[in-house]
This record gives sequence, C-alpha cells and structure tokens, in this order.
Amino acid sequence: MKKLLPTSTAGSLPKPSWLAEPEKLWSPWKLEGEALINGKQDALRITLQEQERAGIDIVSDGEQTRQHFVTTFIENLSGVDFENKKTVRIRNRYDASVPGIVGPVSRQKPVFIEDAKFLRSQTNQPIKWALPGPMTMVDTLYDDYYKDRKKLAFEFAKALNEEAKELEAAGVNIIQFDEPAFNVFLDEVNEWGIEALERATEGLKCETAVHICYGYGIKANTDWKKTLGEEWRHYEQTFPAIQKSSIDIVSLECHNGRVPFAVLGLLKGKKVMVGAIDVATDVVETAEEVAATLREALKYVEADKLYPCTNCGMAPLSRELARAKLDALAAGAEIVRNELST
Ligand SMILES: [Zn+2]
Repeated sequence: MKKLLPTSTAGSLPKPSWLAEPEKLWSPWKLEGEALINGKQDALRITLQEQERAGIDIVSDGEQTRQHFVTTFIENLSGVDFENKKTVRIRNRYDASVPGIVGPVSRQKPVFIEDAKFLRSQTNQPIKWALPGPMTMVDTLYDDYYKDRKKLAFEFAKALNEEAKELEAAGVNIIQFDEPAFNVFLDEVNEWGIEALERATEGLKCETAVHICYGYGIKANTDWKKTLGEEWRHYEQTFPAIQKSSIDIVSLECHNGRVPFAVLGLLKGKKVMVGAIDVATDVVETAEEVAATLREALKYVEADKLYPCTNCGMAPLSRELARAKLDALAAGAEIVRNELST
C-alpha cells in the first residue's frame, strides 16, 4: 500500500559552511575548480543523508549546487549577460543584483542534469527537483531585449521544458516549478502565468508541481508580510485557474501564516504539498503543532492527496535548525498518519 502523507521539503536546504557562507542568500562559493565540483557533490550527499535520517519520504538535492534558485538557471542560458549585473526590485519588495537579457534566450546545454543523475545514483527514494517558474524568472532579471514579460516567460518556458524532459529521463519523479511571483502578480498569473507554466511541463510524464509561497524567511519578506493584513487571500485569486490546469501538485505556505485553510478547497482533485513548517522563525515546531496544521488541511484535502511539506526553502537557516525542523515535519506527519490508519 502506498504510504499516506509522504513528506518532502519545498526545496533548498542550508549549505555546509566550507562550501558557501551560511545563512545567506546568493552566498559566494568558498571553493573553486575541481574542489568546488567535489565539494558540491559532498554537500549533496550530506543533505540527502540528513533528509533520509529525518525520515523525509520524497528527497531532493537541497539545491546544494546552486547559488540561487532562480539566477543559477538563468545564468546557464544564452542571451543572458551575467557579467554586467544590474540592481532591480524583486517582487516589488527588495533590491538584488541580477543578470540581464541582451539577446534571444535559449538553453544550449543541460543545467542540472548531471546533479540530478548524481542524486538518483545516491538514493532509492522518490526524488523531487525544483526549477524556477517562468514568471519568477522574468521577475528576477532585467530585460533589455524582449521588453515584454509574457514573451520572455514563454521563451523561458521553452528552455525549462527542455531541462525538465532531461530531468525526467535522469529519473526525477516530481519536477517542481517555484513561482513565488504567483502571490504578487495575480492578474498576470491568470492572463499568462499558468499558461507559461503548462508550456514548461508540456509532454512530461512524471509528476509536476508548482510551489507558490510568500518567500524565504528573509527580512524583506517578513516586513512585506506585515503589510498584507489579517487574512492572506492571494491564493484565492489564482487557485481556481490552477485547479483547472494540467499541473499535478500545488505546494503552498500554510503554517503560522494568515492563509485561511479554506483556500485549499479551491484545489479539488490536486495533490497538495501543505507547508507545515515555518521557515521564517528560529523556533522549532513541535510535532503536535505540525500535526495540528495537517489536521486542519485534512478538512479540505483528501488524505491520499496531502503531502506534508515546509512553507518554503530553508537555505537561509542554520543547519542545526533546518535539521530540527525536518525532524518535526516527519514526526508531525507520523502522528496524523497513525490517526488516519486507526
Ligand atoms: Zn517558497
């Protein structure tokens, strides 16, 4: 029988301090050349071991080989100038130094395929691989060439689709597209965001997921959240169209936030990765707190479609904290699993 409530993480996990400066986004590598390649593989082995030890069912690379979940993919495409970075405002929230589009965008070579093959060779567990979503990519660079967000998104979707097909062939079970921008540009999501996402998943036979959240637990995001009012109803505006889309799984933020659980009811028929771990606090959830969030989600999501997860990536947290949160996630899921089987 298939295991109920399989656990996973939204994506990134902290890197070891010998590989990159800890608790920081866009942290520069501390190694170079051959040592960097080997160091990334060692970090991947460690993050996998930590997930498996905690009892996480669907494992990932913890994004150990990427500097950032969006820019690392973009920098590997042609048409992108990553030497002359410019500072832009990301998701209307914070400034970051990002690459720019200066010519036609295309994927000339695989980006993560070797990493995915390596992960596949190290575990028999199902693996999930995260790629940036087209809209979030568009929002994480400057564009001096297309000057049209939708057009650029579809160019990215084409490149993502090529990468996704090779990830599938490498043995990835779930390909996830990270779209935090879906909680910001609500009209564009419905106008072209979901369509671009479906272009990125075209022809895939493995499962597909979209991760939509309120961002990493960095100050710019937590400050933004304070301005969003008592109830966060962003999902309400995009889930009806996502429910009709071909995407199999929706990963969202639920724990500790102000998202009304009833929005989960808008995803009827989809599998839902329910964020039951807050990534924006240093407080470790108790197993019972995780279980309470999952029980609440079960009012709207069928048990065989509920996948306990983290609210977002844990890259900016300390390794010790991230490990404790993985343990809490697995333990909380186990409590509810036992309740369901009795
Ligand atoms: Zn996220």
